[in-house]
Amino acid sequence: MINIPKGTKDVLPNQSYKWQYVENTAREVARAFNLSEIRTPTFEYTELFQRGVGETTDVVNKEMYTFEDKGGRSITLKPEGTAGAARLFIENGLASSPMPVKTFYITPAFRYERPQAGRLREFHQFGIEVFGSSAFQTDAEVIFAASAFLDKLGVKTKLEINSIGCKVCRAEYNKALKEYFKPHLADMCETCRTRFDKNPLRMLDCKEEGCKKINAGAPDITDYLCGECSQHFEGVKSLLSAQGLEFTINPRIVRGLDYYSKTVFEFVSDAIGAQGTVCGGGRYDGLVEQLGGQTVPAIGFAAGIERLLLLMENTGAKFPEEQKPRIYIAGMDVETRAKAFEIATALRLKGISAEIDHLNRSVKAQFKYADKLGAQYVAVIGGNELANGEVNIKNMTDGTQTAVKFNEIETYLNKQ
Ligand code: ATP
Ligand code: MG
Repeated sequence: MINIPKGTKDVLPNQSYKWQYVENTAREVARAFNLSEIRTPTFEYTELFQRGVGETTDVVNKEMYTFEDKGGRSITLKPEGTAGAARLFIENGLASSPMPVKTFYITPAFRYERPQAGRLREFHQFGIEVFGSSAFQTDAEVIFAASAFLDKLGVKTKLEINSIGCKVCRAEYNKALKEYFKPHLADMCETCRTRFDKNPLRMLDCKEEGCKKINAGAPDITDYLCGECSQHFEGVKSLLSAQGLEFTINPRIVRGLDYYSKTVFEFVSDAIGAQGTVCGGGRYDGLVEQLGGQTVPAIGFAAGIERLLLLMENTGAKFPEEQKPRIYIAGMDVETRAKAFEIATALRLKGISAEIDHLNRSVKAQFKYADKLGAQYVAVIGGNELANGEVNIKNMTDGTQTAVKFNEIETYLNKQ
């Protein structure tokens, strides 16, 4: 037998309704916030992520699924959705449409990581990206969209926000960070030592225990924000507070990707172990330009669907009911089975879920089967029923039976 690849997961037929619920909820929230869906390819040229996500990130350094295709091009399976969304925006000239351009996506993403609960090699994200507004109101709107999504799913998380400033304040902060880290460098991991020169901010994102301890004493970026960035941050905070959205400021959030600026945020839970961040996002004003487009500010987030499902399951969140047939129609011989087939087909064409026997079961066995399927109604067609053009429909919840003409079954079910 050939097994599923490490770090990937099947969605089984009796589990997919949970995924659909999360995805439908994402679409509902997207509609309410007037976001339009985009779809980008599963793979892109490797350079997009090297330039877009950043060479000093774990994602690009260690986690990408990269290969050469038969034409000798370097291809990478998308490790996240933002770089592809920005490429789509640039390549299709969306900068000339009315701003902001508000988008969302639901996509698989691929990262070569050590698989654990809530950490997979293929996972899925619901993400939104809003291009063309630098206003702090947009940051607040995007954070509210994430919060609305999580609320609708009934999961409890904590919102943590930070501002990592712009190029100007980051330069000052990086200097301060280097001063702080210099005497500790020998005790830090190799990755951090290379980050020290290239991008000291990224050192704050290290997951090594030793580095984390040292990070705790590092200066806070919020003390280094320039006038504009600090005003922007105040604006975001005041809008969140005014709408009653609780948050804490966590100066250690820098996010895993290089393209962020100003506002960054995470929705975290302590109910799913070490992988507590279910949703992360932030502003990335430099990305579009970095990828060869115009100067277009943008902000977005991505929520990990597997982590969300894990959180929902761990905390007993409510899912809607699993899909069940509305009616099961049993026949007992060639003719009555043909009738059952005919009625089921007619109902199905009207959009009513109907099921019949496929295995030549006895009527008794069909009743058991219908019960296992969770059918709400069962109708048994025998010789008499065929002759009278009428069948007893049994309501499986309360056991009552009602005689209904063959051609009135649809009306009957719709009335229930
Ligand atoms: P982490 O710090 O947990 O590695 P990250 O900063 O790499 O997360 P992002 O790139 O911001 O994560 O991705 C957004 C969301 O996607 C995360 O908050 C998480 O819910 C989900 N996610 C990221 N990587 C994985 C993975 N390997 N498996 C499952 N979900 C993931
Ligand atoms: Mg990661």
